[in-house]
Amino acid sequence: MRKKIVAGNWKMNTLPAEGATLAHEIVSRITEVPSDVQLILAPPFTHLDRVAEAIKDSSAALSAQNCADRDKGAFTGEVSAAMIAAAGCTYVILGHSERREYYHETSATLNSKMALALANGLRPIYCVGEKLEEREAGRHFDVVGAQIREVLFNLTPEQMASVVVAYEPVWAIGTGKTATAEQAQEIHAFIRKTLAEKYGWLSEEISILYGGSCKPANARELFAQKDIDGGLIGGAALKADDFIAIARSF
Ligand code: PEP
Repeated sequence: MRKKIVAGNWKMNTLPAEGATLAHEIVSRITEVPSDVQLILAPPFTHLDRVAEAIKDSSAALSAQNCADRDKGAFTGEVSAAMIAAAGCTYVILGHSERREYYHETSATLNSKMALALANGLRPIYCVGEKLEEREAGRHFDVVGAQIREVLFNLTPEQMASVVVAYEPVWAIGTGKTATAEQAQEIHAFIRKTLAEKYGWLSEEISILYGGSCKPANARELFAQKDIDGGLIGGAALKADDFIAIARSF
């Protein structure tokens, strides 16, 4: 049975006290969420300690939104995988399209980050997804296939077993446009088939999340698809009501 996951990517939103309040609100309602759904909160680095404290007696897990591609040393402004793990994270989001686009993260950078995250016991949530022009040119399978092969194919099966994949079409992130359930299922099935080329049966065990304007109104239809195992949620993760409603949509 694949794990059902609803992960909230708070991006660069909330101040620490607001983040702690949001985390408290979410965990106070966690009993409304089916017990087989793993909730993950990914606040900014500066809130990790406070959110870790807020969720410590719940089943929710903590994630960072990124980690450094070096293990330690003179890298001003960076935060290492070891630091994130020590702050209480069990997950880290890697390869989000905003990191790829605005901070020029390449597969080479992501290979380093992936190795360090795994070496520090973190479970990477590895994001893939095509831009609008790539979809319009019919290149979405090529783009997503390359993002999978260039990074995930370098892992051992043991490492791959702890990775979560998130398919996030760039044209759907923060735009209010959601992929249709059919479009999302088609590419999730493609991702699983691509993983099967390298990892065989293990691909059936990997959770693949959908991300991109997922909200209470569309989560049920998306999560009902055979290869969609949950969501990576941006904007709607900043409201406890919406985040809980999405997590109840399986
Ligand atoms: C995201 O950036 O991970 C995301 C899914 O954002 P939104 O839900 O706001 O589209």
